[in-house]
Amino acid sequence: MANTKYVFVTGGVSSSLGKGIIAASLAKLLQARGYRVTIQKLDPYINVDPGTLNPYEHGECYVTDDGAETDLDLGHYERFLNTPTSQANNVTTGRIYQSVIEKERRGEFLGKTVQVVPHITNEIKERIQILGKSGKYDIVITEIGGTVGDIESLPYIEAVRQLKWELGDTNALVIHLTLIPYLSAAGELKTKPTQHSVKTLMESGIKADVLVCRTEHELSDDLRRKLALFCNVKKEAVIQSIDASTIYDVPNLMLEEGLDTVVLNQLVLRDDDTPNLEKWNIFLTKHKNPKHEVTIGLVGKYVELQDSYKSILEAFIHAGAENEVKVNVVSIHSEYIDDDTITKKIAHLDGILVAPGFGERGIEGKIKAVQFAREQKLPFFGICLGMQMAVIEYSRNVLGLTNACSVEVNETTPHPVINLMEEQKSITDMGGTMRLGAWDCELTQDSKVFEAYQEKLISERHRHRYEYNNEYKEQLEKAGLKTTGINPKTGLVEIIEIADHPWFVGVQYHPEYKSTVANPHPLFIAFVKAAVAYAEHTKSAKVSQGL
Ligand code: GLN
Repeated sequence: MANTKYVFVTGGVSSSLGKGIIAASLAKLLQARGYRVTIQKLDPYINVDPGTLNPYEHGECYVTDDGAETDLDLGHYERFLNTPTSQANNVTTGRIYQSVIEKERRGEFLGKTVQVVPHITNEIKERIQILGKSGKYDIVITEIGGTVGDIESLPYIEAVRQLKWELGDTNALVIHLTLIPYLSAAGELKTKPTQHSVKTLMESGIKADVLVCRTEHELSDDLRRKLALFCNVKKEAVIQSIDASTIYDVPNLMLEEGLDTVVLNQLVLRDDDTPNLEKWNIFLTKHKNPKHEVTIGLVGKYVELQDSYKSILEAFIHAGAENEVKVNVVSIHSEYIDDDTITKKIAHLDGILVAPGFGERGIEGKIKAVQFAREQKLPFFGICLGMQMAVIEYSRNVLGLTNACSVEVNETTPHPVINLMEEQKSITDMGGTMRLGAWDCELTQDSKVFEAYQEKLISERHRHRYEYNNEYKEQLEKAGLKTTGINPKTGLVEIIEIADHPWFVGVQYHPEYKSTVANPHPLFIAFVKAAVAYAEHTKSAKVSQGL
């Protein structure tokens, strides 16, 4: 195909309408018709990337292979499309300004006054087109964060207006996602907020080509006609996005509504074949028809906000479907785990996952949870900080190194079993300075992880400053905490396991980032399997013994 086509997704009326899921679903349908598609997110905040944001602000920070700390929507893109994203797929206002200011300092603007228009808007346009110009994609879908009318989004909207004008209507299209609220007192769906939102977009010079309407109730034919007339779009371009029981239903719902056909027609692209969603639908059938059920405890400190552990929750959905198991994930706040509460909080579970995290809060609760899982032979999965907690627990309670700790929590611990990485010692800036992105790891053949991956060399994504302290390796190994995955170049310990336990695995990396619908992560699959086995054998045996 000669030139790349661009689709922009804007949002109106309310935030949190799920632009990311609509973008990912459209991309899925286009990909399933054979198009090469990627999705990009433009975020209007001033942080250079979300790496410095607390998860309570915007949920999880997603990490790409190339080590970019990004918005969690990129996780959805990868999970839906099964193709990796990169730094170019997430751009923030902070990054745009940083780059323009750096150019100004280098004197690249030749004495001109540097302004939002054209310099910031040009930078935005360039960033949008980087993916298109790579030659790797037929269609680039760009999601504009925020809501139309926000002060922060204005330069992005202006950049989209200019690009649409430059590229022409058959090369660029705008999808506007809005909300059609239902007033129960009146028993009616209301279109006015959408009309206003489309008008706001018009004031910035952009005409929406497609309206995707989030709604709790079906849109009638009359209502669609009314929306089309007042919002100046074709009737077939009024797309209903009704609340779904799972986000993975959305591609099929968009297919039924013809979103992909409307887009392809406007972009003058062929729409003759039907999208091949066979694998996707097999996954959905398995997801919706589980044969077993397990309950996993997710032990973390950001549990109040579901989005903080988005990729972990999604990885459980993928692995659950693969095993035909319904995985109930219950959040357990690590701050409230102590000797008095632990049995009540954990004993009834079929497995626990100790989550990634930073800082001191909730640490002791996590260590207690690990101890419980180790002693009770409850399947255990530790991710990043969760793995570090397992090393501390083993050092304290099996090796007898009282007060063993991570220097992240206690700088003067007599036993720094988790230590600051050497290359981190001279770092003072917080943003983008962790050990990030994909690194190799070599697995020991006789291990749970090798059994899961069936490969000797794996590559996984990272986001950490601290590491397993190799000075304690010999003692820990002798005492039964095996190191079954190591970075072949640096010797950094990536994986620990207890051989004498049904499933006790801690990983320094983040397997959840690489789990997709098409490729559920092998460790999540194995962990869910172990939880099923525990539920069926160990737990039932305990119950029958009255324990
Ligand atoms: N805080 C720990 C570290 O920096 C773990 C990080 C994480 O869980 N992502 O090493």
